[in-house]
Amino acid sequence: MGFFTKDIKSLNDLFMHGLQDLYYAENQIMKSLPAMIEKATNEQLRAGFEKHLAETEGQVHRLRQVFELLDTEPKGDKCPAIEGILKEGRDLMSEIGDEDVMNVGLVAAAQAVEHYEITRYGTLVAWATQLGRSDCASLLHKNLDEEKAADQKLTAIAEKSVNRKAA
Ligand code: ZN
Ligand code: FE
Ligand code: FE
Ligand code: FE
Repeated sequence: MGFFTKDIKSLNDLFMHGLQDLYYAENQIMKSLPAMIEKATNEQLRAGFEKHLAETEGQVHRLRQVFELLDTEPKGDKCPAIEGILKEGRDLMSEIGDEDVMNVGLVAAAQAVEHYEITRYGTLVAWATQLGRSDCASLLHKNLDEEKAADQKLTAIAEKSVNRKAA
């Protein structure tokens, strides 16, 4: 967005900006997951990250379909929020020197990402619906449901094994 001009003047502009923001974020998340997979020594956690990486590729594809439905080219807009969440995760990983504690840290970092995504997709589904674009809303809702499921899976992994092993 331009610094000297106020480019967002309608709910539709705001929706487009949010879509570009999330498109940028999903691409950054996709780039971050391989390092998390590599660091995860808990088998369930590693498998969960691998599954979510594949899901994330599908989510990027759905976002591209939303851009297409809106007759626009897929375009990312740098999102400082996801940059900060991912940087915090990388910083934390570089400071942890124990395998079991690393798994706990990875769950926490990943859940921060999922919660970011849940809030963004929730907002975009509501805006798409308000704008009369149920076609876009239903694609975005599929991504929202996957993020919620990923978050719940992480909670289960933490509570059933990872946290206990590190305690
Ligand atoms: Zn922007
Ligand atoms: Fe995602
Ligand atoms: Fe943003
Ligand atoms: Fe996710």
